[in-house]
Amino acid sequence: MAVKLDGKKLSNEICENLKGEINELKKKGIFPKLAVILVGDDPASQIYVRNKHRRAEKLGIQSLDLHLPRIVTEAELLEKVKELNADPTVHGILVQLPLPKQIDPDKVINAISPFKDADGFHPYNLGRLFMNDPFSIPCTPNGIMHLLKAYDLSVDGKNVVIIGRSKIVGRPLAALMINQSATVTVTHSHTKNLKEITKKADVLVSAVGKAGFIHGEDVKPGAIVIDVGINRNAAGKLVGDVVQKQVEQIAGYLTPVPGGVGPMTIAMLMKQTVELAKWSALKR
Ligand code: NDP
Repeated sequence: MAVKLDGKKLSNEICENLKGEINELKKKGIFPKLAVILVGDDPASQIYVRNKHRRAEKLGIQSLDLHLPRIVTEAELLEKVKELNADPTVHGILVQLPLPKQIDPDKVINAISPFKDADGFHPYNLGRLFMNDPFSIPCTPNGIMHLLKAYDLSVDGKNVVIIGRSKIVGRPLAALMINQSATVTVTHSHTKNLKEITKKADVLVSAVGKAGFIHGEDVKPGAIVIDVGINRNAAGKLVGDVVQKQVEQIAGYLTPVPGGVGPMTIAMLMKQTVELAKWSALKR
């Protein structure tokens, strides 16, 4: 039976430790503040944003909730980002994706100051990550690396297979894994014979977004399996990409859904906001 990689527990521990750091900053007159821009009323995005605000408030991080209407123009959104870049009380800025069709997400991400880029998606930060000199790191991949470290699972020399090449998960995770000396294969919808590749993985990460995508037979016995997917099954229940009941019989380690990568992502966002606040103080 696979060992459960408990992201919920670790995320609580990380956040508990952050409280002390936040109090120290406050004593120095620095009040960490995260601005979250939500455009429109996508129900999933609203839940994600609410969870981020709740966690921030619990920790004593100020969170600025900027909810813009679905019909907002790209120019108006860029203007809002510019205002936040110029506001010295704001340390982290996050624009919840996806954005409505009239807005180019790359333009918006590029407009965020790289030094207030709480999500780590700005090309400057992705470039630094690829140079193995990271500043702000995308939260989901960073959360995965923290989870592996907490369980003493080194990826050095391991055969890591990542399914998914998105800018927010697969690509930055590949860079983080390479930086830790893993041998990385990134796969996607054009990959041939995917199952032959997954079966050779010492560490298998699924970030596809399809329930029931990874079965027991796709996994090498004893492998570390990280389930990034967030899906609703036919019964409306939250599930990952991995058929947990099968894979937990084969894998050595497995992240649950919910309670695995999801809470780690939020913990990393909080940690990054605190780091950005510290950094802003250094620049004073
Ligand atoms: P994207 O849709 O941007 O990327 C999905 C990736 O899966 C793409 O690279 C796509 O390939 C690949 N893919 C799709 N079908 C197949 C297939 N049949 N075989 C192989 N690869 C395939 O999604 P995201 O990266 O944004 O998110 C992925 C999942 O992770 C979603 O369920 C999302 O909700 C979840 N997520 C969870 C987070 C958390 O905190 N737990 C945070 C972020 C995301 P191609 O590029 O060729 O299209």
